[in-house]
Amino acid sequence: METFDSLMEITSRPPLVFVSGRGSWLTDERGDDYLDFVQGWAVNCLGHSPQPVAEAIAAQAGRLLNASPAFYNRPMLDLAGRITAHSGFDRVFFANSGAEANEGAIKLARKWGALHRGGAFEIITMEHGFHGRTLATMSATGKPQWASLFEPKVPGFPKVPLNDLAAVEAAVSPRTVAVMLEPVQGEAGVIPADHAFLRGLRELADRHGLLLIFDEVQTGMGRTGPLFAYQASGVEPDIMTLGKGLGGGVPISALVAKEGACVFEHGDQGGTFNGNPLVCAAATAVFDTLTAPGFLERAQARGADLREALEGLSARHGLGEVRGSGLLLALDTVEPIAAAAVALALERRLLLNAPRPATLRFMPSLSVSEEEIVRMIGILDGILGELSGRP
Ligand code: PLP
Repeated sequence: METFDSLMEITSRPPLVFVSGRGSWLTDERGDDYLDFVQGWAVNCLGHSPQPVAEAIAAQAGRLLNASPAFYNRPMLDLAGRITAHSGFDRVFFANSGAEANEGAIKLARKWGALHRGGAFEIITMEHGFHGRTLATMSATGKPQWASLFEPKVPGFPKVPLNDLAAVEAAVSPRTVAVMLEPVQGEAGVIPADHAFLRGLRELADRHGLLLIFDEVQTGMGRTGPLFAYQASGVEPDIMTLGKGLGGGVPISALVAKEGACVFEHGDQGGTFNGNPLVCAAATAVFDTLTAPGFLERAQARGADLREALEGLSARHGLGEVRGSGLLLALDTVEPIAAAAVALALERRLLLNAPRPATLRFMPSLSVSEEEIVRMIGILDGILGELSGRP
């Protein structure tokens, strides 16, 4: 029975219904298997239905689902302790989506501005940056297509070009409280912030007494190589947000901050499902798997394999640069053929993503195998040959 019409139309979906998944593979209702290099939009860092997460969920489901956010629960404490122990941050607030964590970061910065910067509230964000789909995070987002959507927007998000320190300096005013950006712009097509730019932002923030906020919803949890992307740059923000990979497929996100930025008072922030034991137990299993000896090193090795293979494809088909790091990579196709490539890939049961007309993005499981990378490259090689008229 087709039930597609019962859902609100919010995006164009292929008429497939997925019923199960394991690792890098998804299976639809007809029993067809798809090789998945999208992984729920860089969410399933351990692939589909990883055993440690499935077991943690099953065990926790039989023990305690929700004690209320007004009480401590053990998985919430375990997970927060792991995040602070593996990062330079002091405190964590759990939420349910990347947008909600970012909304929390915006509120925290505004509260800090009210207390410490005479009511300053503006947060400088980056053109083409992406921070989510709540009204405030859409307002912070620099996607040109959203500029006139859902007006009036939440005020207070002046935008500057990424990697342009002079533009950030020029945008600072007595109203400014923070600068917020992704260490690698994911939705914009995998555009890295230069490490020199991040160092410059840290110095600028310190000089002007501003907060530096990194949105690591997409880059965190090993996606770009280290556990958190900021660790590769040597620049520590005051506030970091996590989502996507944190739960390995279950909805959990986190707002993580240095002690000096933790200015919420009772009643300022909360949420019914925040920090519930079920998702925290799942995320703790993800965290323990990612931080087990050798795991991130193996993922980094697969990232190097994928990059090398994509560079080979680019040279063979006369395409553009390969961008990104770890297992968040993009291939510039030069000509606007990315959507056509994704459509052909789907026909060949390979799931890919095209964030821009001339950009293909690759965000497989961090436990993707060498064989799966070779298989994906083989399919894509054929598709690129067809689209460029070459065999
Ligand atoms: N921030 C970044 C950098 C993202 O890539 C995304 C989602 O793609 C979000 C925030 C929003 O996360 P969510 O869709 O979980 O609200």
